[in-house]
Amino acid sequence: MLKFGGTSLQSREHWETLSSIVTSRLTAGYRVFVVCSALATISKALETLIDAAASGRHEPVLEEIRRQHLALADRINVDGPKLLAEHFQVLERLAYGISLTEHVDPRLRARVLAVGEIMITVLGSVFLASRGIDAQWMDARRVLKSREDRSLLPHERYLSARCLSDPDPELQAISNRVIITQGFIASNALGHTVLVGWEGSDTSAACFAAKLEASRLEIWTDVPGIFTADPSLIPDARLLKQLEYDEAQELASAGAVVLHPRCIDPLRDHCIPLLVRSTANPELEGTAVVNATSESGPQVKAIATRLGLTLIIMETPRMWHSVGFLARIFNSFAQHKFSVGLVATSETCVSVSIDPVHGFPVDAAALEALLVDLESVCTARSIQDCAAISLVGRDIRSVLHELGPAMEVLDEQKLYLVSQAASDVNFTFVVDGKHAGRVTQKLHGILFGQRAQDGQFGPSYRELLEEVTPESRAPWWHGCRAALLRIAHRSGPCFVYDAQTIVDRAGHLKSLQAVSRCFYSVKACSHPEVVSLLYNAGLGLECVSPGELNFAHDLIEDLDPDRVLFTPNFVTGDEYETGFRLAGHVTLDSLRALELWPDVFAGREVLLRIDPGQGYGHHKHVRTAGKQSKFGVSAGGLARLAELAGNMDLRVTGLHAHVGSGILTPETWGETAIALASAARFFPDAHHLNLGGGLGVPERPGISPLDLDRMSEYLDAFQKAHPQFEVWLEPGRYLVAESGVLLARVTQIKRKGEMRYVGLETGINSLIRPALYGSYHPIYNLTRLDETPDMTAEIVGPICETGDILGHARRLPHSTTEQDVLLIATAGAYGRVMSLNYNMRSPAAEILLSLSEPPQD
Ligand code: ADP
Ligand code: MG
Repeated sequence: MLKFGGTSLQSREHWETLSSIVTSRLTAGYRVFVVCSALATISKALETLIDAAASGRHEPVLEEIRRQHLALADRINVDGPKLLAEHFQVLERLAYGISLTEHVDPRLRARVLAVGEIMITVLGSVFLASRGIDAQWMDARRVLKSREDRSLLPHERYLSARCLSDPDPELQAISNRVIITQGFIASNALGHTVLVGWEGSDTSAACFAAKLEASRLEIWTDVPGIFTADPSLIPDARLLKQLEYDEAQELASAGAVVLHPRCIDPLRDHCIPLLVRSTANPELEGTAVVNATSESGPQVKAIATRLGLTLIIMETPRMWHSVGFLARIFNSFAQHKFSVGLVATSETCVSVSIDPVHGFPVDAAALEALLVDLESVCTARSIQDCAAISLVGRDIRSVLHELGPAMEVLDEQKLYLVSQAASDVNFTFVVDGKHAGRVTQKLHGILFGQRAQDGQFGPSYRELLEEVTPESRAPWWHGCRAALLRIAHRSGPCFVYDAQTIVDRAGHLKSLQAVSRCFYSVKACSHPEVVSLLYNAGLGLECVSPGELNFAHDLIEDLDPDRVLFTPNFVTGDEYETGFRLAGHVTLDSLRALELWPDVFAGREVLLRIDPGQGYGHHKHVRTAGKQSKFGVSAGGLARLAELAGNMDLRVTGLHAHVGSGILTPETWGETAIALASAARFFPDAHHLNLGGGLGVPERPGISPLDLDRMSEYLDAFQKAHPQFEVWLEPGRYLVAESGVLLARVTQIKRKGEMRYVGLETGINSLIRPALYGSYHPIYNLTRLDETPDMTAEIVGPICETGDILGHARRLPHSTTEQDVLLIATAGAYGRVMSLNYNMRSPAAEILLSLSEPPQD
């Protein structure tokens, strides 16, 4: 039984891998059964479709779902329009039905959501056939039946059904062909479509495996196994080579989304081994989940985090010795249909957590009603956005004393609740959601950072991926190591930029058909040679202050104002005045500016910055849209602004939005374009749409780069539908981040208790991003690049701040010593420009390696 998740089905390479896995299992003499999830993001899009349909605005969402499937069909060379016509029609009819009745019940919801899995498997079966595999498409609903339980509510019956998984001789005899079928969907006794729970395809596959009494279930996903923490957040997370069913179950329930919590039971019942492997790197072995592992003895195996929890704190002195108090309060939870997650009690206080359901936040009205009800027996209050951090393992009680140092990381945080599983496999505490990442990272470093590899704990995620990274993707600096070492020893701490990398990135952006103009966001790196290089490569310059405008004019002789864009925010009328003088294009970001300085704006042309309502990005400080952000004019303010502009003869010739930074989802800019095009109805003169920047680069190993081809597909589709607009972009990080590294020598290495510190000659005074945003920069010992990184250390600078840390729990070779040069990668953007003279220490210098004479080893 092979199960492929939505992120494992998006590209042609994924499908080639899938077909070669099928072939190799067939060759090994197995019969093969394939279960697929919907394409990544499609289940969410179908949810959006339902909401949009209820207000009659489903057409664009439908179009987007169609487009994504047709694009995939194209990529894998199958006839999308023909194969999917019938399913698009079903979706259309369902959406139309919802728009008429303005009502969706759980049964209808399940029908809509099921279409995602159906469509992908229809395409997949034809693809497999084209690869010479005798594949047969099967409707999972024919075989997978939900357990009837009348006590369940309709949404539980239809959206979170439990399925029967008894051995099924009929299914076992069904066919010798390769079967390809859907995860996530099943049917009930009435023949209605039901869902097995959000992200439940793993569970579908486990039920199928049990029915077939399969020899094993392989879950193919986007990470090469189960790790000691979520590797997308903690690249130093270690591979767990083996786990027992109970441990995997506990980990999944505690929030490790790599497995659906209900997928273990059917496997355990039939002793079917489970393997978790990566579609992108099929050569890696992954994790085996089995009945009993070779290792025993108490230990913590992993950390899992669940976000978005609501805590209810109930206090009363009356509780002391009162009979039936807990029964009374839990009864209220049942009545208000809240399922309780964690519980902690003391003599006068009970705290419980409520988990979000299917990733949706707790219903505010229902919560309010619960609190009112509880008030009759105690004082009750709720705390939102908490996170539960769970240590999962075996006999945790007997290792609690070892957790002492790990718990120190909680010093500064408020701990809301501590709970320990009676079964002794999990120890959980609840903290404010915003501290979760930091606490998890620190705990992980303390618990697993120094662990040697053994039968259970394998290499880290980063190490695994570095092993399989092809030479062609090796960063530029691999080719000029000796030159960089010379620079570091000669000049001290230094940012080094590679001109070729910058020019290559500029070339990528210029190849985007739908984009007419690109402005380099000067604030990302304003080293004069870098700015000139990009201007000479044909990009415009985006400036955010008079300082940047003047700098650009001083730097570039005959600077063409038409290639300068000024995008200030919260500035005075004088600055706008300067902007109109020095830049060809000025962006207005509030209505208030027009009221305050009508004379500055009268008779001018501007772009208007709009807040499309939702921000994206790697940290909340860099999400630059949404109600928490200070930028832009919201949809509600547009009509008034258009009127005011009309009155003062101000023409809005373009619209602008910049939703955030470090974004890797290629659809983002297409969505921004659609939002801007819709706002353009207020501004008939608006003909250019500046979609902002925010194009991300992978900051951690193992993260796929932004797929420019797909971004381009979205923009092309937009441009085709809206040829009247010219599309602009204003990237910064994308152009320069990977071109830059920070070099610094080791000053001292120090051990303190459990911790090892590697001190550098510069710290947050040169690179503040880790301290400011918790950003991750890969760190290497450039002097000893060929040696295995086999020790863990905190990489710190000389600044008098506890936060002067460039990397937590990083792996370096054991032999690392004073005077070695460390290289901090992806430091070209927002590095030197955000540096400080704090402690009167000058930040690192800057050097551009020129195009004409690139240093080579
Ligand atoms: P699929 O779409 O293939 O079902 P999921 O997104 O459901 O994939 O699960 C894979 C993701 O699980 C990984 O990308 C990873 O970020 C996350 N994850 C969370 N905790 C862990 C963990 N302990 N080990 C591995 N992956 C984890
Ligand atoms: Mg999954």
